[in-house]
Amino acid sequence: MYVSPPGTRKAFPSREHRGRVLALGIEGTAHTVGVGIVDDSCRILANLFDMVKPEKGGIHPREAANHHAEVIAPMIRDAAGAAGVRLRDLDLVAFSMGPGLGPCLRTVATAARALALALDVPLLGVNHCVAHLEIGRGMTRCEDPVLLYVSGGNTQVIAFARERFRVFGETLDIGIGNMLDKFAREAGLPFPGGPILEKLARTGSTLLPLPYSVKGMDVAFSGMLTAALNLQRNGAALGDLAFSIQETAFAMLTEVTERAMAHTGKEEVLLGGGVARNGRLQEMVGRMAEDRGARMFVPPGDLCVDNGAMIAWTGLLMHKAGVHMSLKETIVDQRFRTDEVTVEWR
Ligand code: AMP
Ligand code: MG
Repeated sequence: MYVSPPGTRKAFPSREHRGRVLALGIEGTAHTVGVGIVDDSCRILANLFDMVKPEKGGIHPREAANHHAEVIAPMIRDAAGAAGVRLRDLDLVAFSMGPGLGPCLRTVATAARALALALDVPLLGVNHCVAHLEIGRGMTRCEDPVLLYVSGGNTQVIAFARERFRVFGETLDIGIGNMLDKFAREAGLPFPGGPILEKLARTGSTLLPLPYSVKGMDVAFSGMLTAALNLQRNGAALGDLAFSIQETAFAMLTEVTERAMAHTGKEEVLLGGGVARNGRLQEMVGRMAEDRGARMFVPPGDLCVDNGAMIAWTGLLMHKAGVHMSLKETIVDQRFRTDEVTVEWR
């Protein structure tokens, strides 16, 4: 159930935004629905979230979509309130067009279309993975990074090369966040498991053997999940398991990220996605970057997870570069690939 956060019903109007371009973005690829408002200096004027937390099991796409449909209209109003702007001051509406769960994508697309039509402003569909990279560039001082994008459903190493965002490596099975959440769930811990495992890992010290699965620049996690669950059933301590999962999985991610940096010759690495909030992952990638004479950048936590502000900001970059989309071109794409995006703004 969505409850307006305190302070979001601010009195209008603050007219200081005049002359600025204002974008509203709606994120809704999976369990999180987010509404963000940003201006063309990448100032985050509002960034509201609401997340479906399944009582048991994973996310049910239809249930998540119903949840999004219920909360989205009040969230849009609250975002405008928090930003101190009127909806009619918005210059464009952007939404997450994919990749993600079909019912969730269609729900936010419908909301975004309705809002853009009512306000008579342009509507832009944004690639979710590219948005993680662009908000990282907007918020930190990095210019041309290799992005290690580590979230619930996605795990990719992405960089801009020859006019496109290319995927240099990715998971061959499940996302790293999914692996952490599934392990936690089976071990009787609440959702989301990632942050809980991070705390538990600090109490562990024995490195238990788990499959280290790197193939070129790709990784795989389902073997590790199975092995860790087997160890758990045989009585291994949860702290040691959390420690071992983090050490092994994050070493794999650090290795493929370094390979992509060496291959592209890039000297910046950016973290994105919910798992990027993990202190141990930041430490390992940071050490690798330092050893190479490169630099690591990590956006603030609420811009690492799925959020509306990153969609608004990427939509705004597209808009400023003259990208237009007809309604037909805003049809959602569950398997929207990072390298399918025509990049007109760089
Ligand atoms: P996202 O899919 O990008 O919204 O991120 C959600 C995922 O991030 C979930 O799988 C969480 O378990 C994971 N996550 C969030 N915080 C942490 C953390 N501190 N350590 C590891 N995983 C985390
Ligand atoms: Mg994401």
